[in-house]
Amino acid sequence: MSELAKLDLKYIWHPCSQMHDYESLPPIVIKRAKGVFLYDEYDKRYIDIISSWWCNLLGHSNERINEAIKVQLDRLEHVIFANFTHESAINLSSRLVEILPKGLVKLNFSDNGSSAVESALKMAFQYHYQTGKPNKTRFMCLEEGYHGETIGALSVGTMDLYAKIYKPMLMDVIRIKSPDCYRCEFGLTRQSCSCECFCHAKEEFEKHGHETAAIIIEPLVQGAAGMRIYPALYLKKLREICDAYDVLLIADEIATGFGRTGKMFAFDHAGVSPDIMTLSKGLTGGYMPMSITATTQKIYDAFYAPYSEGKAFMHSHTYSGNPLGCAAALAVLDIIENDDVLTRANKTAKFLNETLSKVLLGHKNVGEIRQIGLINAIELVEDKSLKQAFKASRRVGYEIYKKALKNGLLLRPLGDVIYFNPPLNITQEECEKAMALCEKSIREILG
Ligand SMILES: *Cc1c(COP(=O)(O)O)cnc(C)c1O
Repeated sequence: MSELAKLDLKYIWHPCSQMHDYESLPPIVIKRAKGVFLYDEYDKRYIDIISSWWCNLLGHSNERINEAIKVQLDRLEHVIFANFTHESAINLSSRLVEILPKGLVKLNFSDNGSSAVESALKMAFQYHYQTGKPNKTRFMCLEEGYHGETIGALSVGTMDLYAKIYKPMLMDVIRIKSPDCYRCEFGLTRQSCSCECFCHAKEEFEKHGHETAAIIIEPLVQGAAGMRIYPALYLKKLREICDAYDVLLIADEIATGFGRTGKMFAFDHAGVSPDIMTLSKGLTGGYMPMSITATTQKIYDAFYAPYSEGKAFMHSHTYSGNPLGCAAALAVLDIIENDDVLTRANKTAKFLNETLSKVLLGHKNVGEIRQIGLINAIELVEDKSLKQAFKASRRVGYEIYKKALKNGLLLRPLGDVIYFNPPLNITQEECEKAMALCEKSIREILG
């Protein structure tokens, strides 16, 4: 273990880690990065095929984003955002409102994804309270959903891995069985699906719609659950039922926003709008911690009154609207537009999926390769015909992860699902390299 790695372990408690694992896999010290490549202290190269936890949208050390931050840094690094503002926040907001799904016209800034979710939940609750519906106090969410790690966000997240131990601290939410298109309970395929499983949502709305403030979902891709992908039709049906029961629809696009699904936002596939949308991760190209909770004029207006009426949204974060984050986000939007990034990404996505399927779909343990945009998830199973998972104790995903690191590929798994979620401007050649390393690593573990 290097001296730096030893010092790291002396002081640092890493996120989402059993620190005991670091005895056999010490922290990798990254010295520099460029595009899709990371370089460690020995100059070993890794392909960052997961965009450093899905946030690095346009490659590491992107010259245009670097430059935008440098220019901003010499002007204004930060300023209080209550009663004060600055040009980068104003420009960014007007640009975003132009491209967000129709009706999302007011933006509330925070500094990480979980905080944007907290803001969304509080906003929804208070909206109903201030429009004469104090009985609407509960939240609905999809099973296997993930919305962050703070107490409110964990409450509406339903993955036991993250939430179970904290149950006594969490809100009592209404859980809806989520679509599972790989193991469809109605025996349908992705092609023949008409969202029969929406009956579970219907049932809960009939029971609990009257007491529900909002439902929060990850549109089209339940990321942390293993990139579980479901059709846009489900979102359309949700929009209808939310309207029928006066339940607000919160789209958590922290992971799916900014082109990850092939369109700018996942909701663009559905042609309907949510009432509230959360954004982070790709927003600043993965450079600065920043997030946004976007909402409608109607919700905004329910908070707008003389101060004495006590209707204000008293939610704040010190770093709300941070100028460096805004400058990075503006550069990201410029690049996406000027370079026609989405059109190119969709071409690369097609190539990636076709090649990956050719190389891996025949493998005895590859149950499914599911894809939307550049996101490609490979679900590994013990028995393909039964779609039966490996025993958790085998930690197949983790073993492949370790092997891939040796081989120079950062392929952090979600259980036994390994996935590609690369920067949108990755080249076909880089995809080919990553696929070869991925296949090699899988075969070294599973044969
Ligand atoms: C990552 C993520 C979050 C949490 O964002 P943080 O910045 O890690 O707090 C919330 N929702 C979704 C869908 C995410 O992918």
